Amino acid sequence: LEYKILTDDDIRFFRKTIGNENVLLSDFEAYASDTTEKLQFFPDVVLKPGAAEEISRIIRYCNEELLPVTPRGAGTGLAGGALPVKGGVVLSVERLNRILEIDEANFQVTVEAGVINFNLQQALAEKNLFYPPDPSSWQSSFIGGNIATNAGGPKAVKYGVTSQYVLNLEVVLPNGEIIWTGTNTLKNSTGLNLTQLFAGSEGTLGIITKAVLKVIPKPQNEVSILVPFRNLYKACEAVSAIFHAGVRPSTLEFMEQRAIHAAFDFLFGQKNSPFEGGQRGMLDIGIQAHLLISLDENIETDLQKCVEAVSKFDIGEILFAENQAEKDRIWLIRRKVSEIVKMNGYTIEEDTVVPRGNLAKLVEAMRNLADENGFKVVCYGHAGDGNLHVRINHPKYKNSYNVPEIQEILKELFKIVKNLGGTISGEHGIGLIQKNYLPIVFSEANLELQKSIKKAIDPRNIMNPGKVF
Ligand SMILES: Cc1cc2nc3c(=O)[nH]c(=O)nc-3n(C[C@H](O)[C@H](O)[C@H](O)COP(=O)(O)OP(=O)(O)OC[C@H]3O[C@@H](n4cnc5c(N)ncnc54)[C@H](O)[C@@H]3O)c2cc1C
Repeated sequence: LEYKILTDDDIRFFRKTIGNENVLLSDFEAYASDTTEKLQFFPDVVLKPGAAEEISRIIRYCNEELLPVTPRGAGTGLAGGALPVKGGVVLSVERLNRILEIDEANFQVTVEAGVINFNLQQALAEKNLFYPPDPSSWQSSFIGGNIATNAGGPKAVKYGVTSQYVLNLEVVLPNGEIIWTGTNTLKNSTGLNLTQLFAGSEGTLGIITKAVLKVIPKPQNEVSILVPFRNLYKACEAVSAIFHAGVRPSTLEFMEQRAIHAAFDFLFGQKNSPFEGGQRGMLDIGIQAHLLISLDENIETDLQKCVEAVSKFDIGEILFAENQAEKDRIWLIRRKVSEIVKMNGYTIEEDTVVPRGNLAKLVEAMRNLADENGFKVVCYGHAGDGNLHVRINHPKYKNSYNVPEIQEILKELFKIVKNLGGTISGEHGIGLIQKNYLPIVFSEANLELQKSIKKAIDPRNIMNPGKVF
């Protein structure tokens, strides 16, 4: 099917449906890219509807007219999912930004898709409640985007990823119908689990407009420690040892020293320190990586067990964040590391995930690939989940998309990841830039099944075409 080119009639219809001010025909540079590599694709029009019923009318029209639609949240995605590669309509949910209900009795919250993760966290904190999925982009990414990518975050190691908190979704289907995918109950064995099908579907099956999410009581205390390791691989090996010691960390993050140095210099300058009264060993020569570990229950006993466990792995002086300001500064380093290394030329980011016992092998394989192919690499990420972000700084190429040389290297990487029992993406999704690698991790029969589900829901392929499949 050939997509239609946008006409004046289409524009008139959109203006009538959602108002002139919510139809952008120019100055939409911000909607032409997300945070993936250095990529830009311009839509023909950006629409900002304010309600599911408006979205329904738009989508029904686009389906009939064969106009491609790219759903967009905050555009913080790292797989190119929100890029309008076929032009047409970018449908932004930014005006759907209301927290509709906080149901304290049932520990549930109902939100629109454009609510910023951080805003939800703030509103819940006032009621002593907590929504654990906290991607490092939480200050800007939307709940709808988090659901569409099944986002993780540092807290996933203890509390799980976004899909584990989604009870029910309101979705506008590619034919314009509005459905709820399930019910708001904690248990549900009624019919196919459409809620989980839409969570992680990256805008290819429909537009998420509302979500009912589970929340939990807010943990009262949390301590964070930063453990320096003299050997990169020992830092990886220590991860499993922490769990073997019977500790349940609320975060367990890995940063190799190159990443910490870049973030540290950018945020605090050469001379300052995130710690009060000096640098306290954070940038010591001879340290190759750090684990950032937090605990939010049984703190005293688990801290002791944790320290005993990591001490067997050739560590430097453990740094305890002694007050909130120190904790905030350590976490600032972790949360900003991806943006900062990107600014330093590490523009290609991969989101590999392996069983956590194989982390050291993954880091070693990545280093070997970098040496053999003449590029620099930096690794950091959610070690407790085995989810390692691998960033590449290539002297010649800044993108992997449409660059055969980089794609060959990535194929190599993903074959290694698969052999280690892992997969291509732990939390960012497949979107545009990873879709060519799916045959490495899925059988043909599996991929055909996924494509047939997409075809059944979106037979005219208007919803986020060119992504995932
Ligand atoms: C600095 C930084 C740190 C990050 N840290 C993490 C992290 O710790 N964990 C993590 O998982 N990710 C992380 N990310 C990636 C990104 O923030 C997440 O993927 C996030 O969930 C994307 O949300 P968004 O609202 O920006 O979605 P967008 O980027 O706008 O869209 C992402 C995908 O979802 C689809 N989509 C968006 N909204 C809807 C909707 N309402 N209905 C249907 N489809 C929709 C889009 O079509 C696209 O395919 C990070 C990104 C940055 C820049």
